Amino acid sequence: NGKVIAFIGLGHMGGPMAASLVRAGHRVLGYDVVTRSLDAAAAAGVTPAASAAACAAEADVVVTMLPSGRHVLALYREEGLLDAARPGTLFIDCSTIDVADARLAHEAATAAGHRALDAPVSGGVVGAEAATLTFMAGGSPDEFTAAEPLLAAMGRKSVHCGGPGAGQAAKICNNMILGISMIAVSEAFVLGESLGLTHQALYDVASTASGQCWALTVNCPVPGPVPTSPANRDYRPGFAAPLMAKDLGLAANAVRSAGVRAELGLRAAELYQAFASGDGADQDFSGIVESIRERSAN
Ligand code: NAD
Repeated sequence: NGKVIAFIGLGHMGGPMAASLVRAGHRVLGYDVVTRSLDAAAAAGVTPAASAAACAAEADVVVTMLPSGRHVLALYREEGLLDAARPGTLFIDCSTIDVADARLAHEAATAAGHRALDAPVSGGVVGAEAATLTFMAGGSPDEFTAAEPLLAAMGRKSVHCGGPGAGQAAKICNNMILGISMIAVSEAFVLGESLGLTHQALYDVASTASGQCWALTVNCPVPGPVPTSPANRDYRPGFAAPLMAKDLGLAANAVRSAGVRAELGLRAAELYQAFASGDGADQDFSGIVESIRERSAN
């Protein structure tokens, strides 16, 4: 039961995700404003379209994988994507965008007679290529059930998090934990260094004690204790610092508009913004340990 899927935004993530849908037996019509991305997708079996609206017109499902909410809303509302689609088309937005924008996208899609699901991902480019992404979905149970087989073709796990925007909310809340905990682990290593504690000794204690967390035991920010962590390869990503800065920026927007006293979340957003626009521009987010060390008196 192959479907006709319009896939819009064939970049680092969207390209391999569209290829996974082709491999699962769907007919995938693709569009990207960058010709090179469209050509690469065509080589993977995606049928290139002349515009986003042109592929939406023929589709059962429209998947978007775009840089930000601004792009999603412009396509939905101003560039005719919703008008071009047949009534009842399922719109799945996999981009990471503001919770507020995700809710506006749902409203626009349903007002135009369509169905909508926000379904941002974690797992990065590696997960997109291996079809092992995790999807966090927001929308009605019916929409989630309709989308599930497609999400399963692109990923390993899908969690229905609640109504419109709940997928984006889960994504930014999780990444706010991750950003804060990476800074916490990094500060502890730098403090340990200045107190004469070896990385291994702190690791051996914290990894089996109450300081245990993913930022320590999987993505350890210092080289040595976890040989597979980016710290052992000059902080090559991994999860690039600018993407962490983006996600924390979305979390900070939500924190402010909800009036939540998330002081560490807001501070983590500032620290990652500064790191990502300097030395961290092409580093894994765990490289922030080096900027903490540099700014510390020793
Ligand atoms: P990317 O910049 O590589 O891809 C985005 C694509 O959208 C580009 O190819 C761009 O040309 C295209 N695009 C922009 N406007 C368009 C329009 N109007 N019509 C058609 N195409 C248009 O970015 P990416 O790394 O693939 O990320 C996509 C989304 O996934 C982002 O929201 C990002 O935050 C999220 N994300 C990325 C990763 C990652 O590791 N790269 C991980 C999780 C989530």
